[in-house]
Amino acid sequence: MTPPVGVYIHIPFCRHKCFYCDFHSVTDSEGLIAEYVNAVVSEIKYRAKADGGHRVASIFFGGGTPSLLKPAQAQKIITAVTKNYEVEPGAEITIEANPESLTPSKLRGYLEAGVNRVSIGVQSLNDDLLKRLDRIHSKEQALTAIKQAFDAGYINVSADMMFGLPGQSVSGWQSVSGWIEELDELTASFPLSHISCYQLTPEPGTPLGRHVARGSIELPEDGAEFFDKTERFLEKRGFGHYEISNYARPGYESVHNVGYWEYRDYIGIGAGAHSLMEGERWANVKSIAPYIAKINRTGHAVRRRESLTKQMIQTEKLMLGLRLKKGISLEGIAITKGITKMLSTGMLKKTRTHLLATAKGWRVLDSTLAEL
Ligand code: SF4
Repeated sequence: MTPPVGVYIHIPFCRHKCFYCDFHSVTDSEGLIAEYVNAVVSEIKYRAKADGGHRVASIFFGGGTPSLLKPAQAQKIITAVTKNYEVEPGAEITIEANPESLTPSKLRGYLEAGVNRVSIGVQSLNDDLLKRLDRIHSKEQALTAIKQAFDAGYINVSADMMFGLPGQSVSGWQSVSGWIEELDELTASFPLSHISCYQLTPEPGTPLGRHVARGSIELPEDGAEFFDKTERFLEKRGFGHYEISNYARPGYESVHNVGYWEYRDYIGIGAGAHSLMEGERWANVKSIAPYIAKINRTGHAVRRRESLTKQMIQTEKLMLGLRLKKGISLEGIAITKGITKMLSTGMLKKTRTHLLATAKGWRVLDSTLAEL
């Protein structure tokens, strides 16, 4: 039996474009949400017929800001998935949410619609850093949103946090210890099941990327210091560091995201979404109005499709699998010159069954992987 797949639903709408963001999202099209949801439902029906029957282990609403959906809209999409695919009992159903767009009734509505995991974009518990990050919520709004999620009855609540922000530095006015204080407050205040800690990256093409390139904004250089102290702190608080940027209490690792890292197949629905199925990858039309128009015309919105070679699959498997602490199963992996070199330099190690990064290799994984 083939392993179950993940279904990703892209919701490309935001209230405000954060200046560091290179995700696919727009701020001027909220009026299209209802029409977009109908197109998403049509695409789900089309894909289920075209791809054959698949079992589904997880559904993930990502964005953008999926919490701009009304509960009835989220319900419509979840019902379309459950009617057209065999969704496993207890499947993880996540919605990403921004604090300013959550309300108690919305949270209850999502729960009633079948959502059982909420991932809240907190980013920081420091109002000054939130402003520097160009976020439109405050610390208080973030804490209120998490409290409301627990009050609504969610057990599986994740918070996204970011370090390496403009104004933060290893020893400056907002130091690593300030960041650890934020994690302290967050984990002492709520029984979170999962925390993601990302280092802010200045992506080219974003306003932040341009500022950093011309030197008008400086970001702290030593991410490794944040990485080590975060790990030490969160492990003491009972969170396992299971992926470079992700921490979970035992049993609460994200089913959906682990699926990506383990290179399991997934179906991406919505504008700009990507899918991976049996060695083929395809991407949907990116802009919202043309996406809706193409779905209404043809049932699907595929704009680019490629068949992956064995070598591409191995490289992608390594890039993703080595992000996991447990590493990647050796089954089907050819030991290349690059891997042998990294084994000899102590960046990777092998067990009887797995290839994984050493502690030294893991904290500098991006440069480690460049050698592959
Ligand atoms: S809310 Fe998230 S997706 Fe939207 S602009 Fe900000 S970072 Fe990007």
